[in-house]
Amino acid sequence: MNEMKSRCVIIGGGPAGYTAAVYASRANLSPTLFEGMQPGGQLTTTTEVENFPGFPAGIQGPDLVGEMRKQAERFGADIIAETITSVDLSSRPFSLTLADGREMKAETIIIATGASARYLGLPDEQKYLGLGVSACATCDGFFYRKKRVAVVGGGDTACEEALYLSGLASKVYLIVRKGFLRASQVMQNRLKERDNIEILFNCNTEGLFGEEVLEGAHLVENRGMENERHFDIDIDGFFLAIGHTPNTSLFQGQLDLDQQGYIKVASPTTHTSVDGVFAAGDVCDPLYQQAINAAGSGCRAALDAERFLTL
Ligand code: NDP
Repeated sequence: MNEMKSRCVIIGGGPAGYTAAVYASRANLSPTLFEGMQPGGQLTTTTEVENFPGFPAGIQGPDLVGEMRKQAERFGADIIAETITSVDLSSRPFSLTLADGREMKAETIIIATGASARYLGLPDEQKYLGLGVSACATCDGFFYRKKRVAVVGGGDTACEEALYLSGLASKVYLIVRKGFLRASQVMQNRLKERDNIEILFNCNTEGLFGEEVLEGAHLVENRGMENERHFDIDIDGFFLAIGHTPNTSLFQGQLDLDQQGYIKVASPTTHTSVDGVFAAGDVCDPLYQQAINAAGSGCRAALDAERFLTL
C-alpha cells in the first residue's frame, strides 16, 4: 500500500478544522482533514446558535458545522472519516497513524481536536452512563420527556442545557456548587422565565442511586459549613455541564501543554512548540471557547501553515 502524503494534515472536524480546510484548500495546500468517526465537534451537540455572525435569525449547531464542511469540500479538501491514533512529531515530515493502521506523512499539521465534556469523577457516573447519566442534553434529552432531570454546572452550557430540557422534562434542577451562576446575564434571565427550572445553589452531588436505571441523586448543601444539609432528589436524568477537557492525549510529551492540558500557542499566531505544527480552536483555548473564535483561529492556522511552507 502506498504511504499517504499531504502538505497539510488537519486533525479535527469542528469549526476550527473545517475553516482551516477552507483556507488551506484555497491556498493550494491540498489539505487532508481527519474528522474522526463523529464529525462536527461540539456544535453537533448544541441547539440554536444565536451568536455566530451572519445568521441574524440563528442557526442550528449541526447545520452550521455541516455548511462549513460543505464549504471545505467545495474547495477540494480531502475529508476522511477516520481517527488518528498516534503521531510522531520528532522529525519532518511528521508521521501519523490512522485507526485502520495506515500511515501518513505530513509536511505541516493543524491540530483542531477540540475539547470533551468533563465528568464529576463519581463512580456512580460510570455505573449509570447511558442509564440516566449524560453529558449532552440535545443528544439524550428526548428520552426524558415528562420526566425529572438535573443539570450540573453554573455556566452558559449548563443554562443552555437546562433551558433545552425544560421544554421536554416536567422538572429540571440546576445543581450549582457556588451561590451564583457564572453564565451570561441573558442566559440567567431566560432561566428565570421557566417555571419548571429550580436552581439548587451551594449544592454538590455526592452520589447517584437507582435499582437498574437512575432514580435519584444524593446532594449536599453548604458542604463543610455549620448548616450543612444532606438530601436526595428524585430524577431520571443527570446531565453534566461542568466544562471541558482538551483532547490532547495524542500530543502529550511532544508538544508544550499548559497545566490544564491545553496546547500552548505563540499568540497571536497558532505556532506550537514544534515548527510546522499549528493548533486552532478549543484545543488551545481555555478562555473563550466560542465557535466563532475556533473558526477564526482555524483561518489563522491555515495562513500560518501556508507561510511556513512557502517562506
Ligand atoms: P464554564 O467553565 O463556563 O462553566 C463550568 C461550570 O461548571 C461552572 O459553573 C463551574 O462552577 C461548574 N463546575 C466545574 N467543575 C465542577 C464540579 N466539579 N462540580 C460542580 N460544578 C463544577 O464552562 P461552559 O461549558 O459552561 O462554557 C465554556 C465557554 O463556552 C464559556 O466561555 C461560555 O460562555 C461559552 N458558551 C457560550 C454559549 C453561548 O453563548 N450560547 C453556550 C455554551 C457555552 P464554578 O463557577 O464554581 O467554577
